Amino acid sequence: MGNIAFIGIGSNVGDKVKKCRQAITKISQWNENTLLAQSSFYKTEPIGYTQQDWFINCVIEIETSFTAYELLHVLEDIEISMGRERILKWGPRIIDLDILFLNDEIIRCKELTVPHPEVQNRAFVLVPLCEIAGDYIHPLLNKPISQLMADVGDEQGIKKLGSSPKKLVS
Ligand code: ATP
Ligand code: CA
Ligand code: CA
Repeated sequence: MGNIAFIGIGSNVGDKVKKCRQAITKISQWNENTLLAQSSFYKTEPIGYTQQDWFINCVIEIETSFTAYELLHVLEDIEISMGRERILKWGPRIIDLDILFLNDEIIRCKELTVPHPEVQNRAFVLVPLCEIAGDYIHPLLNKPISQLMADVGDEQGIKKLGSSPKKLVS
């Protein structure tokens, strides 16, 4: 049995949906990874540095035989291969790939924090996550994603695009 990982995907430069789809394809191309589920795409308002274009966000679930660090480095390589440059913290980006959860693991290192520390504060993560993993219990907060989503409320501007969530493997 592999590890179960949830990955948050975001883009706010160029053809954003296409960039997110490309990233999902690249993640799936690794034999070590199997795509299990994919949320809808959401159009979301920027947070932090707000003088920038809106984002497209989605979340995927994969089964992976990579360790946490291997997965982080694979995701970083994909970001770089797609042309991401780190200019401004929370600034515009072609693609952003964050590890939200890996099984029930708790990792706190300089390079990697899992669960991702902002999950519970971000509607653009919780709403797509809820589509594919509403019952998943946050291993630190001990609450299901559906509860965390209710707690964060609906003040952050996020809008579902036409596509529907997909459960790829039952
Ligand atoms: P945020 O983490 O608030 O979403 P960001 O995604 O814009 O911000 P980045 O510039 O993409 O931040 O990443 C900075 C560093 O965060 C990366 O180099 C990576 O080492 C580290 N990092 C820590 N935890 C994680 C995680 N769970 N997933 C991805 N990167 C992480
Ligand atoms: Ca991020
Ligand atoms: Ca990131």
